[in-house]
Amino acid sequence: MVNLDLLLQTAEYAAKKHRDQRRKDPEQTPYINHPLGVTRLLTSAGITHLPTLQAALLHDTVEDTDTTVSEVCTVFGLEVATIVKECTDDTTLPKAERKRRQILAAPTVSLEAKRVKLADKLYNLRDLLRTLPLGWTDERKLEYFAWAKKVTDGCQGACPPLEDQLKQLYQEVLGV
Ligand code: NDP
Ligand code: ZN
Repeated sequence: MVNLDLLLQTAEYAAKKHRDQRRKDPEQTPYINHPLGVTRLLTSAGITHLPTLQAALLHDTVEDTDTTVSEVCTVFGLEVATIVKECTDDTTLPKAERKRRQILAAPTVSLEAKRVKLADKLYNLRDLLRTLPLGWTDERKLEYFAWAKKVTDGCQGACPPLEDQLKQLYQEVLGV
């Protein structure tokens, strides 16, 4: 049985951290909808491991807010902090290098981090299909899909229900 109190405490913490941020869609959806949706993709795929669900809620806090891995470790423990760290890009690097490293790192991270990565990419791809962010072209969307496929191909076997949904999306959009 998942500890709902701890899960909701984590959601509240993530909501505070992302409170001033919006998604890139034209509606400027509150950012917290994304970590909540990523976590829901995991629960609907049957994942009940609490640290994985907590890491999904927190997966963009270190990359996109002033939160540090050590703060996550102090508040939520080493297991959660380790998964979050595995899902965090080195933001000091140029964007293209960060994207290259995500592809290389995907097969090397823990099972839990692979699951969060699969859900993260699935959520973002569905978001892009729903509405393109302002300034994005169809070409950029297709580039994003092609890159995401390279990352999720490195996470194979971690969560078949999510992989099946991704496979269907790639087939529809990329034809592969
Ligand atoms: P970004 O990394 O800038 O944006 C995608 C990320 O934004 C997602 O991974 C997601 O990350 C977050 N996000 C926020 N809102 C949304 C949303 N509504 N839908 C989907 N994702 C959302 O974009 P790119 O991946 O395109 O990275 C930039 C790269 O694109 C550069 O390497 C550059 O060379 C290239 N580029 C290409 C252009 C083109 O026209 N082909 C033009 C400009 C740049 P999270 O999960 O962390 O929220
Ligand atoms: Zn994310």
